[in-house]
Amino acid sequence: MVRRAEPIAVVHPASADDVARVVGAAYQSAHGLRVSARGHGHSINGQAGARKGVVIEMSSREREVRMGVGEKGSYVEVWGGELWIQVLRKTVHYGMAPKSWTDYLYLSVGGTLSNAGISGQTFNHGPQINNVYDLDVVTGKGELVTCSEDRNPHLFHAVLGGLGQFGIITRATIALEPAPHRVRWIRVLYSNFSTFTKDQEYLISLHGKPAKERFDYVEGFVIVDEGLINNWRSSFFSPTNPIKLDSLKPHGGVLYCLEITKNYQQPNAHTIDQEIDDLLKKLDFIPKTVFTTDLAYVDFLDRVHKSELKMRSKGLWEVPHPWLNLFVPKSRIADFDKGVFKGILGNKTSGPILIYPMNKNKWDERSSVVTPEEEVFYLVGFLRSALDSETLEKLRRQNRQILRFCDDASIKVKQYLPHYTREEEWKDHFGDKWDHFYHMKMEYDPRRILATGQRIFKPSITTTTDM
Ligand SMILES: Cc1cc2nc3c(=O)[nH]c(=O)nc-3n(C[C@H](O)[C@H](O)[C@H](O)COP(=O)(O)OP(=O)(O)OC[C@H]3O[C@@H](n4cnc5c(N)ncnc54)[C@H](O)[C@@H]3O)c2cc1C
Repeated sequence: MVRRAEPIAVVHPASADDVARVVGAAYQSAHGLRVSARGHGHSINGQAGARKGVVIEMSSREREVRMGVGEKGSYVEVWGGELWIQVLRKTVHYGMAPKSWTDYLYLSVGGTLSNAGISGQTFNHGPQINNVYDLDVVTGKGELVTCSEDRNPHLFHAVLGGLGQFGIITRATIALEPAPHRVRWIRVLYSNFSTFTKDQEYLISLHGKPAKERFDYVEGFVIVDEGLINNWRSSFFSPTNPIKLDSLKPHGGVLYCLEITKNYQQPNAHTIDQEIDDLLKKLDFIPKTVFTTDLAYVDFLDRVHKSELKMRSKGLWEVPHPWLNLFVPKSRIADFDKGVFKGILGNKTSGPILIYPMNKNKWDERSSVVTPEEEVFYLVGFLRSALDSETLEKLRRQNRQILRFCDDASIKVKQYLPHYTREEEWKDHFGDKWDHFYHMKMEYDPRRILATGQRIFKPSITTTTDM
């Protein structure tokens, strides 16, 4: 079933003051008009919608950015609706770039900061929310507030990973580093899950080491069927590198692909091969399954867009995406493998399945985002597409089955990009953070008019067609 949630108005703000005026009017209106910021509208369960309310289109036009160097280092100041691809293009022009990314860049700054913003750099730099110096936020009372670690810190931490509940991010100051020129992008294969995870965990334990002694990006994915060869993360296993995946798989089994990169500046190109060889020697992948390519840094970061264009041309992009993203504690990832990758999934996946570990100590516990109670946890992302309603239903059923399996086996997963519809589920999701989350909501959005599409809080004054 497809749910529709039509707003009564869509606003294209020219400034933060416009955003403040709209939210202020909604706050004061007798009927408690709901307001949602919409970044690029990529959330998959209507989170950016505002039924019978106002949607503020944050990404409708490009804005100026401002770069500088402050006490904490180099930064760029951007509009909250700016897309990451625009931030990259503008900063790289001056030889700089943000440190922490998502796999896909046609997402808005406000949209990813409301979740966390994760990718293969997270093990080393933390998620995007850990790489922000300060924010301008329009609260649910229509007040424009600047916040940072030192200034209105409660609001700052609440907004980061806060699912849009406390305010609309109109400006963010983001940490920069010198942009590498090029990237060596490597994939290697494993048939044994524990060898695969041992190597991934080893690689993320090198965080904080000098760049020469670690990779810059660590991700991975699960290969259950050869459908992977045709999906949006597959551009890599090219016909010039023919490898019969079936010949590597244990009987009826699953393969795991480790994906790593090494960034480099052009003048250091002569040392890069040696640095990579030294690192690869420490890993235990299937010999002769090393796939390597070399590309400009911007092209690596923007890799998914290339596949997007191909998929769009075949009508395969604008289709339902019953995605499920979970943070799984390290201590139970082997049980998850047995029960889900080698069990529930069967032999057809309908899209990429990402798996990569992260270090909890790179996440700021004061943000609103919730992660498992272990030092290392994995992101497992089932990024599936459904081309017909039967498949959509089947994949949704499978998602529920995966969550039930985790529940029954007491695997304490946390959803990333969470989707729940009942307050008890949200309380359970936030766990110890719920009371604070609730308190902050009452302080900064007391009429509960913001981001109602997340379905966490019911607006205090409701219409007949609520939630
Ligand atoms: C192809 C693809 C690949 C992806 N890859 C990754 C990935 O690698 N890593 C990752 O972390 N995520 C990834 N995502 C998920 C993505 O980060 C989230 O869906 C994010 O919410 C999308 O940003 P958006 O701008 O489209 O937000 P929207 O869907 O427009 O909004 C999401 C939520 O944030 C709120 N919001 C939007 N803008 C603001 C603002 N300025 N201030 C406050 N609240 C706001 C909205 O009200 C809504 O509740 C991917 C998504 C897609 C489609």
